[in-house]
Amino acid sequence: MTQHPPRSVLLASPRSFCAGVERAIEIVERLLDQRGGPVYVRKQIVHNVHVVRGLEARGAVFVEELSEVPPGATVVFSAHGVSPAVRAEAVERSLDVLDATCPLVAKVHAEARRFADRGDTIVLIGHAGHEEVEGTLGEAPERMVLVETVADVEALEVTGPVSYLTQTTLAVDETAEVVAALERKFPHVRGPGSDDICYATTNRQIAIREVAAQSDLVLVVGSKNSSNSVRMVELAARTGTPAHLVDDASEIDPAWLAGVSAVGLSAGASAPPELVDEVVATLRALGAVSVSTHTTATETISFTLPPAVRGAG
Ligand code: SF4
Repeated sequence: MTQHPPRSVLLASPRSFCAGVERAIEIVERLLDQRGGPVYVRKQIVHNVHVVRGLEARGAVFVEELSEVPPGATVVFSAHGVSPAVRAEAVERSLDVLDATCPLVAKVHAEARRFADRGDTIVLIGHAGHEEVEGTLGEAPERMVLVETVADVEALEVTGPVSYLTQTTLAVDETAEVVAALERKFPHVRGPGSDDICYATTNRQIAIREVAAQSDLVLVVGSKNSSNSVRMVELAARTGTPAHLVDDASEIDPAWLAGVSAVGLSAGASAPPELVDEVVATLRALGAVSVSTHTTATETISFTLPPAVRGAG
């Protein structure tokens, strides 16, 4: 009988939770510990079905709009941020707000206000309908225009000063092409002081690209509505390696593994690390594996909690 060498599993690092996601989840957990349920959360706190279900089980109530929150109740704004109109509505309804907006999303909002104040038309590069994009557009709706592609840029009709901002979780390579198109069309276009695509998105893309190049199959753990997870799958696929997004190990189709000797594995910034462990266990159950980690960056960043939940927990 021929003895096959163990299948190798290449773990991309960094992967899984970023500082903004950890902070957002901790805000809800600490509120639940301090005040008990229900704690209302506007939209999914982060885009991950397992995180949402886990917090629901502890007493969090996820709502789409503030109109679903009883007057005077505590509500958490999700990591993706909200528009000023939503903040105003919370004041009007006398809600007790805890803001879990990632500081790196808040940075983009601040830039939007600054660019709008100086009279620019702001081109926001991002995906229509994404909660972060809706929040950022809300900072200066009359001064902002949304583009997703180079073709969108070419179709723009704008006069006067132009600047651009981006969603935090875009593909670095694709965004560079859109920015280059903007610079061709508007030679005086001004961008943000530092990249809006966040460190976590960038690091996870660099790591998965390197791992994908050495793999026959890539698995990314994350939910379908997680922008950074979807971008990682697309990026891996662009290297020529088949890639799948799975919410957890149960979504792995054993047929994907036929003839595969190296599996690249990562997780989006909103996916809990234990889900990756479960994927490794499932791969092991399907045949011997040797697991190694491919590290392209070390992350040490963390964000402070809002004062209302600091000090306890
Ligand atoms: S992916 Fe980036 S912008 Fe989004 S929560 Fe994490 S650190 Fe913040």
